[in-house]
Amino acid sequence: MYKTILLVFFCITSMLANPECYKEGYSELIRSANDHEIVFKNGTVLPYRTNDLKNTWDEKLTNADLEMQISQTYRIDSDLTINYLYSPGRLRYQPFFQAIYGQDEVSISKNLVTIKWQTTNGHKNLLVSKIFGINEKLIEINKEILKLPFKERIFADFVGTYNYRFIKDTNRLSMHSYGIAIDLSPSATQYWKNEAQSETSKITYKNSMPLSIVRIFEKYGFIWGGRWYHYDTMHFEYRPELLAPSCFNQK
Ligand SMILES: [Zn+2]
Repeated sequence: MYKTILLVFFCITSMLANPECYKEGYSELIRSANDHEIVFKNGTVLPYRTNDLKNTWDEKLTNADLEMQISQTYRIDSDLTINYLYSPGRLRYQPFFQAIYGQDEVSISKNLVTIKWQTTNGHKNLLVSKIFGINEKLIEINKEILKLPFKERIFADFVGTYNYRFIKDTNRLSMHSYGIAIDLSPSATQYWKNEAQSETSKITYKNSMPLSIVRIFEKYGFIWGGRWYHYDTMHFEYRPELLAPSCFNQK
């Protein structure tokens, strides 16, 4: 009986998280990935699992490891019905992003470049990471957005990227700190914290971000905060491990 329970648990865990997602998502940088460790081509080794407590939602947010980081499958579809506390991409293992984009503000800033982001009435200069060609991906995204109808492409007029900061009310670094996240139209979109005081509060979903824009970002490896229970509908971040084929095959 105990063995059966263990086996079922193992199968569920394997189904939910597949270390191959990392190798596929970051093939330029990662040599191998299994359920013990992720090995980078430069010799960096990170554990796939850590022993920190991950029982409560708060512990999951604070102590997520690489397994937990991909434990909630990201889905690309038009259905925005989202289960309670299902926020694929929000559970992040900070050392992973530091290993890729820089350990601190100084080392991260060495990987930043300025891109020209075209709007409906001019352009803006944006600081973004050049790692994995994120700068070039954003330029392509920008070009595709500009082909959308005016009422949709105008969402890309108000834009923010690099900003070394902590996530509101936490000691966790925002993905904007690495230059791999972009916010569009903060004042015309929705953020869960405006509706709830606690991470575990029940929240009513809201979104005004056009899905045409979302689809463009997802095509280039960016996830959207509008697919989170803790919605942040202005927010996109580069997370190819969640969009890798091995991750989709788990569905
Ligand atoms: Zn953001």
